[in-house]
Amino acid sequence: MTKTIAPTLVGLLLAWPIATGLTLPSRGPLPQMRPEVTTSAPDPEAKPPEEAKAAEPQDIPTPQNKPTAPAGEAEEEAKPASPAETEAEKDEASEGAEPDAEEQKAVAVDPPPPVEDPKALAACLADLKAIGARFETDKAIDDADGCGVASPITLTKLLPDVALEPVATIRCETALQLARMTRDMLKPAAEAAFPDKPKLTAIRHASGYVCRNRNSQETGKVSEHAYGNAIDIAALRFGDEEEPVMIAKQDDGTAEAAFQRAFNAIACLYFTTVLSPGSDATHQDHMHLDVIKRKSGYRYCR
Ligand SMILES: [Zn+2]
Repeated sequence: MTKTIAPTLVGLLLAWPIATGLTLPSRGPLPQMRPEVTTSAPDPEAKPPEEAKAAEPQDIPTPQNKPTAPAGEAEEEAKPASPAETEAEKDEASEGAEPDAEEQKAVAVDPPPPVEDPKALAACLADLKAIGARFETDKAIDDADGCGVASPITLTKLLPDVALEPVATIRCETALQLARMTRDMLKPAAEAAFPDKPKLTAIRHASGYVCRNRNSQETGKVSEHAYGNAIDIAALRFGDEEEPVMIAKQDDGTAEAAFQRAFNAIACLYFTTVLSPGSDATHQDHMHLDVIKRKSGYRYCR
């Protein structure tokens, strides 16, 4: 029945515009085109949520807020006012971004201890004193949000004849490793490289204890500087002459470059993280050293 009616209706509809003098479209309004739906295959680069989550190191506490410093200070810390301020960014970039199997091992096992082992601390302080360092023990620093040092020291001299400038607040272990490195290897290396220079008289640093996250971000891992575990070396002083640390390319044949390459290597014997000058964009003019503990004693030296 519909089959017979349909042609009649069509004929009437076609005839209608002619009869009325209207120029209607030959057909009724078309249904709205549906928005084009992309039916292409899923982006192969996109990771499923589980995979993306698994790629993030997860073993260090992630403070939710910036340290509760006075507003002015907090603001200042947020800005990379000095090489030290961008230090944590490098830590994060080199150890946090797309860790491969090897770098996964570089991720710290435990957060730094909120409390020092009393025996270990006593031994450390005794060793530091025996080396001839000058320091004072300070009361605990607790800046909340994951920052703090249970038993900080203020270090003014690494050795009787080598100062730390300016004075730094750090953990004893950080100080002890710096003093041992300076006494046993850095001073002799400097004397071999620069026989005509005055002797090493000071190590100049850019950052000791600083309460902040890596990357100076609102959230994320706390920098090793926020535990007193890290120090950034900016320069060495020979007599009154200051020598900034330098980017020592492998093919640089100067004594200065040879010394810097030795310094980079020496540091990795005493510290578990060494980010040498030139190791990345945020370490062009200083070197980051820290004593973070990792699985199997893994060292991250670049
Ligand atoms: Zn640093």
